[in-house]
Amino acid sequence: MDSSVPEQGVNDPWSVVVTALQFAADRHCHQRRKDKAASPYINHPIALLHLLHQEAGVIDPVVLASALLHDTVEDTDTSLAELETRFGPEIAGVVAQVTDDKSLPKAVRKQHQVDHASSLCDRAKLVKLADKTANLRDLVASPPAGWSVTRCQDYCRWAKQVVDELRGTHQTLEAQFDQVYGEAISQMAA
Ligand code: NDP
Ligand code: ZN
Repeated sequence: MDSSVPEQGVNDPWSVVVTALQFAADRHCHQRRKDKAASPYINHPIALLHLLHQEAGVIDPVVLASALLHDTVEDTDTSLAELETRFGPEIAGVVAQVTDDKSLPKAVRKQHQVDHASSLCDRAKLVKLADKTANLRDLVASPPAGWSVTRCQDYCRWAKQVVDELRGTHQTLEAQFDQVYGEAISQMAA
């Protein structure tokens, strides 16, 4: 049997998470984050995994694997069909819900995230919450090279608009977002 088929995870819930980590590392291997140091991109999906599992106590392997894979379709040469074949329809479905349609103009995509956040399934809401928190943490620690304070503020306000539509999903994750949002706003006001 192909070791990447979803059935592998039936008896060992960690199997699908480890396989997703390997897959994401492979697909993002030539990408870098936007911070000054151009950190390896895979640090970002791993940050979501840490936030969800270690800080928020989320143990659902579908959520954890989806978090690791959440940017593979949007940012790499990976299709939802491939994710479905390798990881099954549940994980592919969550990734689909957190993937922007890059054929749309950026402003439309950003408004779409705000408008559709409340209609996501609970698993996708958890991934979305972790994604926004991780990005704000990155912004506070090391903003994208060349971003003005105004652009950073705009990004923070937009992230909060999305998160405000996700409220009531997970208390700890929402508190973690609120904490870093507060830090970001006061850092930028200084
Ligand atoms: P982008 O979508 O271009 O960039 C933000 C994304 O970059 C994040 O969502 C994250 O996505 C990824 N990312 C990679 N590294 C980092 C990092 N170190 N810190 C944070 N995020 C990182 O941003 P926007 O275009 O949305 O810009 C933000 C705001 O600025 C917008 O509201 C827009 O209106 C405004 N703007 C201003 C401009 C100006 O010159 N003043 C020009 C363009 C926009 P992922 O999770 O996918 O990795
Ligand atoms: Zn992301």
